[in-house]
Amino acid sequence: MIQNYIGGQWCESVSKDSVEVFNPANGETLDRCPLGTVADVDQAVQVAKKAYVSWRQVPVIDRVQPFFKLKALMEQEFESLAKMVTLEHGKTFVEAKGSVRRGIQMVETACGMPSLLKGEFSEDIAAGIDCQAVKSPMGVFTAIVPFNFPAMVPFWFWPFAVAAGNTFVLKPSERVPMTQVKIFELIEKAGFPKGVINMVHGGKDVVNRLCVHPDIEGVSFVGSTPVAKHVYQTATATGKRVQSLGGAKNFMVVLPDADMNKSVNTSLESITGCAGERCLAGSVVICVGDEVYSTFQDKMVQAAQKMTVGDGLDPKVNMGPLVSKEAKDRVCGLIQRAVEQGAKLLLDGRKGVDNLPGYFLKPTVLAGVTAEMEIAQVEVFGPVVLLGKSDNFESAITWLNQSEYANTASLFTSSGAAARDFSYHVNPSMIGINIGVPAPMAFYSFGGSKDSFFGDIKAHGDKGVDFYTDTKVTIFRWMKDSSIW
Ligand code: NAD
Repeated sequence: MIQNYIGGQWCESVSKDSVEVFNPANGETLDRCPLGTVADVDQAVQVAKKAYVSWRQVPVIDRVQPFFKLKALMEQEFESLAKMVTLEHGKTFVEAKGSVRRGIQMVETACGMPSLLKGEFSEDIAAGIDCQAVKSPMGVFTAIVPFNFPAMVPFWFWPFAVAAGNTFVLKPSERVPMTQVKIFELIEKAGFPKGVINMVHGGKDVVNRLCVHPDIEGVSFVGSTPVAKHVYQTATATGKRVQSLGGAKNFMVVLPDADMNKSVNTSLESITGCAGERCLAGSVVICVGDEVYSTFQDKMVQAAQKMTVGDGLDPKVNMGPLVSKEAKDRVCGLIQRAVEQGAKLLLDGRKGVDNLPGYFLKPTVLAGVTAEMEIAQVEVFGPVVLLGKSDNFESAITWLNQSEYANTASLFTSSGAAARDFSYHVNPSMIGINIGVPAPMAFYSFGGSKDSFFGDIKAHGDKGVDFYTDTKVTIFRWMKDSSIW
């Protein structure tokens, strides 16, 4: 049974309930994850609250030292961390390594906290009166994270919070808790004081307690939109700061002046990378004009057929399984209903991979997709290419802006003017020009808008620092002997 990490100790959850953790490439059981309780959360928050008193007084230059050690330890364990991601999540080893690298980059960025935390000072805001603004830590924060990037998404949050002087309680996804256990073994070695960073495993009971606990200052959440909304509403109702990142429906527009081969490959990689289980995955490709549409149908099927699907640890494989049988059944249902609603199945991957028992769905290509179809509106979270057509650039933008989600949008073109128009007019907040997965680096902010993001302050970069600090302004007047000047 997987253990919690509270106050620098590995400990059993008080819960008797648990869920199986399994390898989606073959269905084999890897371990069991406890479904924690209110008591687990209360213990972790109490410890974190106590640790905050001394941690916030540690000079920032000293607070970042364990992060330098953590970075070195993660480099040493780079391959074993990535292997654990592939085992419990299913993505390929190459993709898993990419996600660990992104996690390390968050740690590296948090090492710069002495600069990120610098305040402001003005002298003589009035005669003899000065003013300073400092970014001050606030207390205990929490993050609740999804299954799809176990070595990356948690690092969007806690390094920024902790380096800024707060303490933290992390709740990993109960579907993929083992990567975090390995990471916490490294956190333990890195020398963070006891209680500064804690981990409680579980499901909705843990989440619901974290959202209302009176000693938690703020909540960072990543997951599906209904839960993101629930977390936002519940936690803000108790006066907390909340940044809640939800699901997505990412559109890609192809103009006739784009490089067709590169656009096909880039959009296919966006849609099928991590088997489509990422919030930045492309979904609907809107081809502008008949010629682009016809070229894309032929080339997309050819490229998708060439992909090798199988166990992510097999080096020949370029796409792994979906995370579970339920996930596969859900995507197959969406494909079936799309066909019933008039979409044309150009490539059907639902049969999976011969002789492999895992939850494999090969790349699937549907053409004739229109804005009214269910599959054009909901998040698919699977390797399904949806090809649609638009008469002109403006109507393509109108189509994508109708979506309830607004995470990313991509444009394929060789025109700078079209690229500018696109980023000016589209709703999504993360935009790619000839880029299929416009994922901001650790030193920029991350997050969408509309139903893809609830809150005001986005994740990581200097916005992450803003989320985890309160700006305190002090106005000074030092009384002095008036005879000096
Ligand atoms: P999920 O919403 O099922 O779970 C996310 C977290 O919420 C987990 O820790 C889970 O334990 C908890 N949870 C689940 N149901 C709950 C409930 N009813 N009440 C309280 N807590 C609950 O999401 P998932 O399936 O793990 O992850 C996939 C989703 O995450 C997709 O929609 C994807 O787009 C989204 N995602 C978004 C981003 C982003 O940056 N916007 C990044 C990664 C993933």
